[in-house]
Amino acid sequence: MESGQGDRRLGGRVWALFTPYRATLVVIVVAVLLSSGLGIITPFLTQAAFDDALFPTDGSGVDIPLLAWLVGGMVAVPVVTALIGVYQTYQTTLLGNRVMADLRGRLFEHLQRMDLSFFTATRTGAIQSRLANDVGGVQSVLSETASSILGNVVTVVGALIAMLLLSWQLTIVAVALVPLFIVLQVRVGRVRRKIAGRTQESLSDMTAITEESLSVSGVLLAKVFNRQASEVARYREENARQVDLQVRQAMTGQSFFAVVQTFLGVTPALVYLVAGFLIVAGTGTAVTAGTIVAFTTLQTRLLFPTVNLLRVSLDVQTSLALFQRIFDYLDLTPKIVDAPDARTLDTAAVTGRVELEGVWFSYPAGEVAGEAPVETNGTPLTWAIQDVSFTVEAGQLAAIVGPSGSGKTTLSYLVPRLYDVDRGRVLIDGQDVRELTQSSVADAIGMVTQDTYLLHSTVGDNLRYAKPDATQEELEEAARAANIHDRIVSFEQGYDTVVGERGYRLSGGEKQRLAIARVLLKDPRILILDEATSALDTTSERLVQQALERATQRRTTIAIAHRLSTILGADVILAVEAGRVVERGTHTELLALDGLYARLYTEQFAGGAVEARCADGVRFRDGRTLVAGGTHL
Ligand code: ADP
Repeated sequence: MESGQGDRRLGGRVWALFTPYRATLVVIVVAVLLSSGLGIITPFLTQAAFDDALFPTDGSGVDIPLLAWLVGGMVAVPVVTALIGVYQTYQTTLLGNRVMADLRGRLFEHLQRMDLSFFTATRTGAIQSRLANDVGGVQSVLSETASSILGNVVTVVGALIAMLLLSWQLTIVAVALVPLFIVLQVRVGRVRRKIAGRTQESLSDMTAITEESLSVSGVLLAKVFNRQASEVARYREENARQVDLQVRQAMTGQSFFAVVQTFLGVTPALVYLVAGFLIVAGTGTAVTAGTIVAFTTLQTRLLFPTVNLLRVSLDVQTSLALFQRIFDYLDLTPKIVDAPDARTLDTAAVTGRVELEGVWFSYPAGEVAGEAPVETNGTPLTWAIQDVSFTVEAGQLAAIVGPSGSGKTTLSYLVPRLYDVDRGRVLIDGQDVRELTQSSVADAIGMVTQDTYLLHSTVGDNLRYAKPDATQEELEEAARAANIHDRIVSFEQGYDTVVGERGYRLSGGEKQRLAIARVLLKDPRILILDEATSALDTTSERLVQQALERATQRRTTIAIAHRLSTILGADVILAVEAGRVVERGTHTELLALDGLYARLYTEQFAGGAVEARCADGVRFRDGRTLVAGGTHL
C-alpha cells in the first residue's frame, strides 16, 4: 500500500490534470453549492407551512395565501435544483471526458516515443490494457466522484446547519447515532467486498473450466482419457459454490439496506420522544409540530449522503491504484532521445555512407525472461554484437549473412538507431547517429522487414504511409517498379482495396512487393532490407527479385540476405557469427576462403538449387553454373 505521502503526491498529480479546466471547475462548484444549498430551504418551508399556514401557533386558522406561497416555493425548489443538476451533470461529464482524453492522448504520445526495447520486453496486451482499461477505469472518478464528494459534503453540512437552526437538542439526538451508522455500514461494506471478490474469482474459475473442457481439444482430451465424469464433477462443485456466494452476496446487500432503513425509522422515533420531553420540560427553544416534521425530513439528507460518501471513498481508493498504474507508464523515460544539441541530417544532401566503428552492443539486461544478466566488472557477457567495424560506401549493396541468432537483425537495428550501441559509433555520412535528430535519421533510412506489416486500410493508404502527400501517379510508379501495380489493378477496387488485419489477404510475395513499393515511395538514401526467409514460387520469386533490384539502385542498401541474387549482386558480403564479422569480401573472394561463408552458401543459398558440386564450383539444376573465382550465370 502507498504511504500517506505517496498518496498525497499522487493526489497532487491527479489534481494537476484538472488545472487547465479551472474555469469549468468553478462553474461546477457553484452549481453544486447552489443545488445542495437549495435543498436546505425545503425543511424551513415545511416548518413554516405547519406552524404558520396550516396550524398557526397563534390559533388563527389556516392561512391559504401564505400556504400557496410556501407550496409554490416547495415546487420551485426541486424544479430549479433539477435544472441546475442537469447543467452540472453536463459540465462534469464534459470535464471528466476531456481530462480523460488528455490523459489518454498523453499516454499514447508517450508510448509512441518509447524505444523498441520497451515493446519487445512488454506484452502488447498489457500496454493496450493500460490505455483502454486503466484510463477507462478512472473515468467515473474524473467525471463524477469529485462533484459527488462535494455535493454530499455540502448536503451533510447544510443539513447539520439547518438542524441546528431548528433545534440544537434534537440535532444531538439525530447526530448521536451517525457514528454507529457509519461503523455498521463500513462493516457490512467490508463483508460485501470480500464476497464480491470471491464471487468474481469463482466466476472466472468457472469460465476457465468451461473454456478448457468445452473446446475442441478439451473435449477430445476428456473423451480419449475418459475424464468427462470428473470434468462434470469439477464444474458441479464450482457451480454449487456460486450458489452459496450469490446467496450470501444478496443477503449482505439486504443487510446494507436494512441498516439504512432501521436508522431512517429509529432516529425520527427518538426525535419524537426527545421532542416530547423538551416540550414538557418547556425549555427555551420552542419545539413545534413544524420543527419536528422539518427535522425528520432533514434526516434523509444526513444519512443518504453519508452512505454515498462511504461508497465514493472506496471508488477513490480503487481509482488511485489505477492512476498510479497510468502515471507509472507516463514516468517511463525513453532510452533513446535526441541529444540537446542534436543536428538535423540534411536528407536531400545525404550520400548514404554507413560506417560502424568498433561497435559493441548487448540487449538491456533482464529483457529476456529468465535470462539473468551475467556481468563481470560491469561487462555483460552476452554481447549480441562484438567489436564490429565495417563501411558501406554510398550506393553500395552490403549483404549480411550468418547463422540464425548471429546478430544480423541486431546489426540492422543499430543503423537507424532503434537501439544505441554500448561502445563504438554508428556513422551516417561521417556523423554519429546519436548526434543527429531521430526524425532526420528516420527520414534518411527506409526499412523493409521480414514480415510486412500492413495497416487495416486501403492499398493506397498503406503506400501513402511512406509519403502522405504522394499523388496517384507516384503511387502507381512505385507500385510498377515493385511489380505489384498489375496485381493491384486486378482487384475490383484497385488501390482502394482494403488490406491488412481484417482486409484482403495478400500472398506472401504480394505483401513483400507492396512493402517494397512503400519504401520506393519514401525513396530513402539508405535501405535496410531484411529479406523474407520463406520460399516463394518461381514466378513470385522473380517478381520480388526484380522489385528488389530496382529498390536497391541509387541507394545504399544493407541487406540481411536470404536470396542468392542478393549475395551474388552484393558489393560486399559480411559473414557474421556470434556477433562478430568473421569474413568480408565479395562472393568469389569469400567462397575461395572456404570458411563460414562457403558453408552457409552451400547450405542456405545454393540449398536445394545446387545440383552438383563440381571441381571448379557448383552447377545449378536450371543449368547455370558458378565457378569459384570466376563469372557466374
Ligand atoms: P539473427 O538476426 O542473426 O538471427 P539477432 O540479431 O536476432 O540474430 O539476435 C542476436 C542475439 O541477440 C541472439 O542471441 C538473440 O537471442 C539476442 N536477441 C535478439 N533480440 C533480443 C531482445 N529483444 N532482447 C534480448 N536479446 C535479444
